[in-house]
Amino acid sequence: MTESLDALTSLVAGGGVVVLSGAGLSTESGIPDYRGPSGVARRHTPMTFQAFTRDPLARRRYWARSHLGWRLIARAEPNAGHRAVARLQRAGLVDAVITQNVDGLHSAAGSAPVVELHGRLDEVTCLDCGNLTSREELDRRMREANPDFVARVAAVNPDGDVDLPDEQVAAFRPVDCGICGTGMLKPDVVFFGETVPPQRVARCFALVEQARALLVLGSSLTVMSGRRFVIRAGKCGIPVAIVNQGPTRGDGYATVRVDAPLGELLPALADRVVGDADAGVTPLATAAGV
Ligand SMILES: [Zn+2]
Repeated sequence: MTESLDALTSLVAGGGVVVLSGAGLSTESGIPDYRGPSGVARRHTPMTFQAFTRDPLARRRYWARSHLGWRLIARAEPNAGHRAVARLQRAGLVDAVITQNVDGLHSAAGSAPVVELHGRLDEVTCLDCGNLTSREELDRRMREANPDFVARVAAVNPDGDVDLPDEQVAAFRPVDCGICGTGMLKPDVVFFGETVPPQRVARCFALVEQARALLVLGSSLTVMSGRRFVIRAGKCGIPVAIVNQGPTRGDGYATVRVDAPLGELLPALADRVVGDADAGVTPLATAAGV
């Protein structure tokens, strides 16, 4: 295993890279990573699909918290790391981005294609009629249904969930589907206890198997949902590079490992391989005749 920017640079300059990103890439956009070194410990258990669908009180608590947490997610903007990934993608060196993040910031930075493994928080699905609507529209309807709802937010989690006292939860009125009228609404994200749609997983495996290199950005690879792609790359003999602050559960598969803040490292990497016209840096890809 090599720990250097030079090794990372030559790997990415060769192209055919598939990126797998996690919460660590969005911390510099103000979205906390509760597993990373800069994150705060999560103060309550994340909502499970089972509790959400079976327990009306749990559902009310989720929406009350999420109604407030959504403000932070909706305000968040892509950071230098997201923009650097988009630059590498436009330069043809990154073929696709697979992200575990639900904040939509890769797409907002101009990346395409992006596979959002765990869905997007800015879309809402009806569990009865299956219609997909925008979170913005739901937010408007929830504000209308709760004109006097004011609460103090103590902490926000990466999925837009916030800590909120019980008495404030009790005062919140969730709304049902605006299309079928009675359906249960759920953000179009994969909850704990829920599986990622099989076609989406298959698409990610296909992307990884066709890649020349897998580049993991800002994920501790704690959950199998993301780690399985690193394992697959390892089995296929595809080089894996991991950039993350702190150790990851995929380090055993890494051929290159860099421990650095992504908002600094990724623009530097993009400058080296794509070039920075303003700074007069000679791109490595051009220098190497790639
Ligand atoms: Zn519906």
